[in-house]
Amino acid sequence: MDPMPAPAPVPQDLESLTAALEAAEARLQSILQTVPDAMIIIDEQGRVESLSATAERLFGYTKNEVVGRNVDMLMASPHHDQHDAYLKRYLATRERRIIGIGRVVTGRRKDGTTFPMHLTVGELQLADRHYFTGFIRDLTDQQMTESRLKELQSEVTHMSRFMALGEMASTLAHEINQPLTAIANYLKGCGRLLERMTGEQALVLRDAVGKAADQALRAGDIIRRLREFVARGESERRIESLPKLIEDASTLALIGAKENAVTVSFRLDPAADLVLADRIQIQQVLVNLIRNAIEVMSEGGHSRQLELATLVAGGDLVEVSVSDTGVGIAPEIAAQLFQPFVTTKSKGMGLGLSICRTIIEAHGGKIWVDTRPGGGTIFRFTLRAAKGEGRSLVE
Ligand code: ADP
Repeated sequence: MDPMPAPAPVPQDLESLTAALEAAEARLQSILQTVPDAMIIIDEQGRVESLSATAERLFGYTKNEVVGRNVDMLMASPHHDQHDAYLKRYLATRERRIIGIGRVVTGRRKDGTTFPMHLTVGELQLADRHYFTGFIRDLTDQQMTESRLKELQSEVTHMSRFMALGEMASTLAHEINQPLTAIANYLKGCGRLLERMTGEQALVLRDAVGKAADQALRAGDIIRRLREFVARGESERRIESLPKLIEDASTLALIGAKENAVTVSFRLDPAADLVLADRIQIQQVLVNLIRNAIEVMSEGGHSRQLELATLVAGGDLVEVSVSDTGVGIAPEIAAQLFQPFVTTKSKGMGLGLSICRTIIEAHGGKIWVDTRPGGGTIFRFTLRAAKGEGRSLVE
C-alpha cells in the first residue's frame, strides 16, 4: 500500500517562517527601542524602513512620520538633494564613499533646524535586496566645545599680542624718554647759543635746531600717548567664577601637553569661588604660567606634575598657585624675573611674566614666586574676592 502522501510542507513552513520573521521583527524593534544610538534602516530606494527611539528624539519626528518616506528628509543640503543619486551610484558602481568609512554631515530636524552629525553606514543584503543601516552621533556638543575653545584661544591670543605691545611700548617709553629728553635739552642749548650769533647762516641753523627740538618733543609725546593708551587698556572687570576661569585657561594651555606626559592636578578651595576680574586677562596670566611650567618640565629628567590650586588668602583676597616640578628658576635671572625682556629661552621674548605682573597689579593683586619643596617652582598670585550677592552677574 502506498503510504499516505505527505502533507504539503508549505503551510507549516510558511507558518514557521512567519513566526520566525515575526520574532526577528520583534527582536529588531526591541533593539531599536533600547539602542542608545540613533539608528536608521533604509531600503535601496532610500525609504526609511525603521528607526531607533533615539533617532526619533534626535530628529524630533515620530516613527510614523518617517517610515516609508525618503531619508533625505532628515538631511540638509547638499546631501538632501543628492542622496538619491548617491544611492543609485553606489548600487551601480559599488564604490564606497561613506559605507564603512563614516563622515560628518548636517542633519535636519523636524523644526527645520540643522545640526552636525557623524554618520556611519553599514550594508545588509537579504536575498537580492539591499538595506543600509545608518548610525548617527550628534556632534553638537563636541563642536560647541571646539568652537568655544577656538573662541577662547583667539581672545587670549589677541589679548596676549595686545599686552605684549603694551609692555613693549611701556618699556620703550621708559628707555627712549631719557635720550629724547637729552636731545631736546642739547638742542635748546644750541638754540640759545645761536640766538647770540648773527648772519644768515645762523638764522637758518636756529630755525633748523628749533624744528629738531620740536620733533624730539613730539616723539616723546607719541610714546607717552601710546603708553597711556595701553595703560588704559580695555580692562573690564566683572564678577567671575574662579574655578571656571582656571578650567578654561588650563584647557587652553594644556592643548598638546599630553605629548609631554604632564600630569595635571587641581586643588581648588570651594570657598575661593567668585573673583573680580577681567576674564580674558586673568586667563592670559594663567595660560602664561601654565605654559611656562609645561615648557620647563618638558626638558626632561624629572617628574612632570603640574598643580593648580586656590585658597582663601584672608582679607578679601584669594590666592591662585601654579606649581611645577621643573628645574626651578635660573639664579641669574631670579632677581629680575618679572622685568620685561628677561628670558633664558633662545626664542623667548621675556614678556610673559612682566605682562602677568602688569595684569595682576592692575587687578589690585600681587604676583610672586616660591621654590617648591622637593624641586620645582610655584608661581602665586592674588585676586580680589567678590561678594556672594553678585553671583547672578555671572550666571
Ligand atoms: P619667556 O617665556 O618668553 O622667556 P617669561 O617672562 O614668561 O618669558 O619668562 C621669563 C623667564 O623666566 C623664562 O625664560 C624662564 O627662564 C623663567 N621661568 C618662567 N617660568 C618658569 C618656571 N615655571 N620654571 C623655571 N623658570 C621659569
